[in-house]
Amino acid sequence: MLEALFQRIEDKRADLVALTQALIRIPTVNPPGEAYTPCAELIGTRLARRGFSVSYLRGEDTPGDSARYPRTNVVARYAGRAPGPCVHFNSHIDVVEAGHGWTVDPFAGIVRDGKVYGRGACDMKGGLAASIIAVEALIEAMPDFPGAIEISGTVDEESGGFGGVAYLASKGLFSPPRVDHVIIPEPLNKDRICLGHRGVWWAEIETRGSIAHGSMPFLGDCAVRHMGAVLNRFETELYPKLAAKHTDMPVVPEGARSSTMNINSVHGGQPEGFEGLPSPCVPDSCRMVIDRRYLIEEQLADVKAEVVSILDDLTRTRDNFDYSIRDLMEVIPTMTDREAPVVRAVASGIRDVLAKTPDYVISPGTYDQKHIARIGHLHDCIAYGPGILDMAHRPDEFVGIDDMVDSAKVMAQASLALLTGRI
Ligand SMILES: [Zn+2]
Repeated sequence: MLEALFQRIEDKRADLVALTQALIRIPTVNPPGEAYTPCAELIGTRLARRGFSVSYLRGEDTPGDSARYPRTNVVARYAGRAPGPCVHFNSHIDVVEAGHGWTVDPFAGIVRDGKVYGRGACDMKGGLAASIIAVEALIEAMPDFPGAIEISGTVDEESGGFGGVAYLASKGLFSPPRVDHVIIPEPLNKDRICLGHRGVWWAEIETRGSIAHGSMPFLGDCAVRHMGAVLNRFETELYPKLAAKHTDMPVVPEGARSSTMNINSVHGGQPEGFEGLPSPCVPDSCRMVIDRRYLIEEQLADVKAEVVSILDDLTRTRDNFDYSIRDLMEVIPTMTDREAPVVRAVASGIRDVLAKTPDYVISPGTYDQKHIARIGHLHDCIAYGPGILDMAHRPDEFVGIDDMVDSAKVMAQASLALLTGRI
């Protein structure tokens, strides 16, 4: 049975490459959310032809949704001949901007040396194509399977997933009894199972001063210097503290096994982007966005308190220090149990297809699993897919064709095991 299934996937190699190319050629760049509808329709039309019932769900009134840039998601469902569980493959269709440094056209889907190149090849149109081929092969090989299989193409993962998976989860599309097991084909390498991700806290800190003539700064109060004091305390107190925190989560890469914080931006004084010279003013406002990634061993309240206590201490000790802080985003860490059905099913697929024991990892950044866990209350969810994680968002992004074929086999075998309950 498995041999016949794997042979079908091998026979679909050219189809898999062509589908990956077709997906790359629709430049679903986010922001702003370009060409979501034609990409969703490419997936929906193909699966409808193969007997799936297809629905398009627009994330109305979610961030960025407009008549020009509709947040179009596609969900396709194929019900087997008997009742049983539902296995769902969820991929995001959006990609980040191409950026500079490419030696090939980022939206041409060029094939060279066994790889498909293009923005989104790795993250994650290659994974999406592999899951479609896996499912199509499984349905052909075993038309009377029990349960149901779903494939979704969702938007805005790169910008938080609010118009995509979060929206669909709020409509009950990622909850039992409709869905039981979810595989997200993010590019984590074909022999690794990603159990979850670290937590996130984004916040904006503003320091305030008072405006005056730049030739007499002593008559004003410089908000940028106050922010400099904040940064100084971060350097001397907070960063060493974060670096000393280590997690038992198997986060990759190794450096992300500590707590981390990125300074996302600092803006003070006159707005950037104007032509000509600035006028001489003492800035009365400075804003900084911090991107703090935290560990499953930490509590969000403590993570926030570490920053706020520094700001409060500056209020006490530094003349005229005045600040405010605003939460921008919070994500709790998630980690699926290693003994969960979807984990065991994919692990046995990796053992059979690749003849090796899988690595279990945790992603340093978050992805749509957060919404499935928190809004959908569905915890049998992992990320598993082809592509080298380090290639994501880079110039000359690619996905290996052999890797896509191998991971399609793993996905098909795992689906079969989950549908038939033989895990
Ligand atoms: Zn991704």
